[in-house]
Amino acid sequence: MSSNFVPVAALPDDPEGDDSWIFARGGQVLLVDDFESGPRPLTTEEAQQITDHVAQPLVLGRFNDKTEHWWTGQLSEGFDPFDAPFPGLMFYDLRALMGSLDPAVWNVAGRATQITDWYRDNQHCGRCGTAMEMDSGERSMKCPNDGLVVYPRLSPAVIVLVEHPDGRALLASNVAWRGPRPMYSTLAGFVEPGESLEDCIHREISEEVGVTVSDVRYFDSQPWPFPNSLMLGFFATYADGEISPAPDEIADAQWFAKDDLPNIPPRASIARALIDDWLSR
Ligand SMILES: [Zn+2]
Repeated sequence: MSSNFVPVAALPDDPEGDDSWIFARGGQVLLVDDFESGPRPLTTEEAQQITDHVAQPLVLGRFNDKTEHWWTGQLSEGFDPFDAPFPGLMFYDLRALMGSLDPAVWNVAGRATQITDWYRDNQHCGRCGTAMEMDSGERSMKCPNDGLVVYPRLSPAVIVLVEHPDGRALLASNVAWRGPRPMYSTLAGFVEPGESLEDCIHREISEEVGVTVSDVRYFDSQPWPFPNSLMLGFFATYADGEISPAPDEIADAQWFAKDDLPNIPPRASIARALIDDWLSR
């Protein structure tokens, strides 16, 4: 899923009038509630009116067909949007904005929460406690005492739609999703250090539902900022075994036919894109 966004780490010249700002604090993003067109990022003129509440402006990047930059910054805990010198500022939950905000802008907002969290969490060296310094050329924090370098953390996760040779798909319902009409989705799990994506796919599917697969095919990827994942989507073909859900994680898992689907994930998620691609074939 390409958003045509080019991440930038080195500080460009000072922010310019046409730049856009999405401040963040603890998984929430600050936007202007524009009643006519929905929430939008702040302009540089608006951002400059609340800079007293921002620890450090951090550049995010730009869209590849545009020259204007996008910025973020960690807002102080004491900042109340209603105290701002202009109206309409509101904190929005990033997850709740999914599907309503323009997907490309939502992706930048996800980058904003991750970069501000990284900056906040790495003010001091995890090894010796010395105040860290931000590198001016790359996105890193460095300890001037012992040289420890910390980059923003990304946690890759695989997400897999397992297809049966008879045309059905294996979908599972997580124990956390139980309710009157539980959602069923593709299988997913985090990649461990030292593990290849292919190893991870075989391990996760075996752990979660007890079956083996073959013919793993890459599909697409999606940044997933809760809090810092990169979802890597695959198809795989069922090979062997009976479905046996992991009791602590999977409430139920079944083979579903295309004309008999349960409640599935919302549009804009890669899980749904996998399911829609399978349905279209
Ligand atoms: Zn140190």
